[in-house]
Amino acid sequence: MSSIMIFAEFAGSQLKKGTLELLTAARKSNMKIQAVVVGPKSKDVVSALGQNGVEQVFLSESPGFSAYNSETFSFAISEVIKKQAPKYVLASSSMMARDLFPRIAAKISCGVVSDCTELSFSGDTAAVRKPLYSGKCTASVAFENAQTQIVLMRANQLPVETSSKSVTPVVTEMDAPKTDLKTLVKEIVAGTSNKLDLTEASIIVSGGRGMKDAESFMLLNDLADTLGATVGASRAVVDAGWVPHSMQVGQTGKTVAPVLYIACGISGAIQHLAGMSGSKVIVAINKDSNAPIFQKATYGIVGDVFEVLPLLNLEFKKLLQH
Ligand code: FAD
Repeated sequence: MSSIMIFAEFAGSQLKKGTLELLTAARKSNMKIQAVVVGPKSKDVVSALGQNGVEQVFLSESPGFSAYNSETFSFAISEVIKKQAPKYVLASSSMMARDLFPRIAAKISCGVVSDCTELSFSGDTAAVRKPLYSGKCTASVAFENAQTQIVLMRANQLPVETSSKSVTPVVTEMDAPKTDLKTLVKEIVAGTSNKLDLTEASIIVSGGRGMKDAESFMLLNDLADTLGATVGASRAVVDAGWVPHSMQVGQTGKTVAPVLYIACGISGAIQHLAGMSGSKVIVAINKDSNAPIFQKATYGIVGDVFEVLPLLNLEFKKLLQH
């Protein structure tokens, strides 16, 4: 019986939403579901994986996996893939996965398709689509002559459904991580934000040059706190030094696909749209009714961000009873 192997990511003892999306899609196939999970406390998510239909878990809690290192991760995971020969390997298209899986693909001589926005299964065959040319078109992707096919999915593109298939997974400990490394991660400096990364966030409040200065981003932070959102930005404000590059959405920033994207004082240049046009609902606030962002927006508010944002925040607070 062919299998699908999910690269499971977690925080605390909870599987990340992107992983739950992949598990939901995998359960719609007729294949056995396997998962690989590494890092301290990996065992804490074994039962959650079982509740989501995973029959076999390959894990390692070795301290060698506590920080991401492409050498250790790619070596260990490619060994599991070589031995198990799953038909598909699925992972979220995170920064880490986009670094890791091309290395694994090279080790096991298969293809990898990243940044996919559509994935469905019919029996043991996957249909995969991904955007091209900054989202101007989408392509359906097929793999040729590969025993294993690696698919990296953008977050928030697939539904999360409650599993009706709960099993007790067979757990296999992975080999100890490689020690003769060419590179060593000496320190990870955590960011100051306790918010979800832009690529995982389901709500994003984003600001552009229309916010006037760095201090005015407080208005965006306040609205984001009310909504449980993450704050993003256009390149213009990153270039101006108001916010760090990690907050940039667009062609040379992050590609995001939240359920709700609120663009505040952003004109809607093609390079910005390239990073956020996959959002389900786009709300644009701009004082120029001809701003190109309105052509992409689901809802548009023609107005001054300094008047609209406090009012919106107030109304959301009332609705959400903060
Ligand atoms: P502007 O274009 O200056 O727009 C500001 C908007 O704010 C205007 O529409 C204005 O009407 C509105 N406004 C002003 N005051 C108010 C107010 N008080 N209330 C409401 N609205 C107001 N850009 C990205 O964002 N991401 C990228 O990854 C990216 N990559 C690029 C890569 C390349 C190779 C190049 C050439 C460019 C790239 N850019 C990128 C830059 C892009 O072309 C635009 O310059 C940039 O997106 C503009 O940012 P903005 O919308 O904040 O600013």
